[in-house]
Amino acid sequence: MIHLDHDIIIAPATATGGALCIIRLSGEGAIEMCDSLFRGKKRLAEAKGATLHYGYIMDGKQVVDDVVVSVFRAPHSYTGEDSIEISAHGSLYIANRIISLLTSHGARLAEAGEFTRRAFMAGKLDLSQAEAVADIIASDSRASHAIASTQMRGGYSEELRSLRDKLLHICSLLELELDFSEEDVEFADRQELSRLLNELLLKVRSLADSFSLGNALKHGVNVAIVGRPNVGKSTLLNRLIGEERAMVSEIAGTTRDSIEESVNIEGVIYRFVDTAGLHSTDDRLEQMGIERTWKALEKAHIILWITDSADRDIEKDLCGFAPSPEQRIIHVINKIDLHAKEDQPITETQDKKYIPISAKLGLGIDKLLAELHTIADATNALRGDVIVSSQRHYEALRKAQESLVRSLDGLHNGTPTDLLSEDIRQVMYHIGTITGEINSEDILKSIFSSFCIGK
Ligand code: GDP
Repeated sequence: MIHLDHDIIIAPATATGGALCIIRLSGEGAIEMCDSLFRGKKRLAEAKGATLHYGYIMDGKQVVDDVVVSVFRAPHSYTGEDSIEISAHGSLYIANRIISLLTSHGARLAEAGEFTRRAFMAGKLDLSQAEAVADIIASDSRASHAIASTQMRGGYSEELRSLRDKLLHICSLLELELDFSEEDVEFADRQELSRLLNELLLKVRSLADSFSLGNALKHGVNVAIVGRPNVGKSTLLNRLIGEERAMVSEIAGTTRDSIEESVNIEGVIYRFVDTAGLHSTDDRLEQMGIERTWKALEKAHIILWITDSADRDIEKDLCGFAPSPEQRIIHVINKIDLHAKEDQPITETQDKKYIPISAKLGLGIDKLLAELHTIADATNALRGDVIVSSQRHYEALRKAQESLVRSLDGLHNGTPTDLLSEDIRQVMYHIGTITGEINSEDILKSIFSSFCIGK
């Protein structure tokens, strides 16, 4: 259960094993509580906010550790409350001893995400910014960090909030009309309302559309390496990940299972899956591998479809696979060292581009990586463009989009004002759940419980 009270909460803010350990304490009276254990040149209770103090944490007459204490005074702290951060030596024993001393003085162990929840409650962060804090901590690549960092600095929530406020204003005028329904008055400017709904629809749609990219960049872009046996899929995987992970062999059907490897290439995590070659076979083991290939194909964001350069009839190699609209295929022609020069043009159709490579000799790999990067559209994320990567936000945006379309239809078809205002209320509701103007205990619980303790 998450408490809503203003107890003094305490938790270690760092993982064990480092040279230092930081213990966080927050709540009214936190500074005085720490002061009762602290011996330094100056009393913490008299210290100004945003100051550092060297001294000892004492257990009676015994020194527990020499520490540096940071003092933050409300409202200028992460939680908006009086807060303390104790930097001690990174021993689990010391951390536990300091924490148990402070709990014996009345502090309570913090729940997961409780510091950030307090920051949200104090209006220091909106809900989407608070969620981005967890994403920042979990970020493991330049792209996922860039997305989380943009969101934490305000991202789209500021823009959404301002559009929502304008909508709220017009909606209250609409609802005022209902009070004067006898008199046929129009307080809300319908043109202005239509303009605002369209602006919001454009914004919401583009944010929702960015989700498949954001989601892929946050969790890693799935790239399936697919093709007939012996075209060089394992050789390419080894080339891409830079090691001999997949077994390369001249015997067709060597990769019976799917091999998956994640590589960080220029700030983006790609999850390459080398699959069993697609062809018909009676070998039960191979058949199972081929079934897994189809599964990997379904999950893939990008498909590297490899063909041997001796085989120019590329189309037949698609083996009847129909990609979904979000999936992108890169056609790769391998073994150009045997059959063609790297720069020899290969017939391209309007919507198909072929990348000639030699996985064995490493020719054309740069071009292939550049193409992957363009398709993953990673440059936008790395540039700090606003991209949605939260499933919760995506669902709210989708629902807002549906209500927006209904509102616009209603507005143009002369739907009665009370029904129109109900649809607009729905738009505001769904947008409000992203920024946190609308929040329920259930939403907050599910968001903050996924945080680590001490954040
Ligand atoms: P897979 O069945 O598609 O995974 O194919 P492998 O990666 O196991 O390769 C099959 C054979 O083709 C091996 O003997 C590789 O050394 C060879 N091969 C792969 N790529 C190239 C290439 O670019 N040039 C040449 N000459 N041989 C290659």
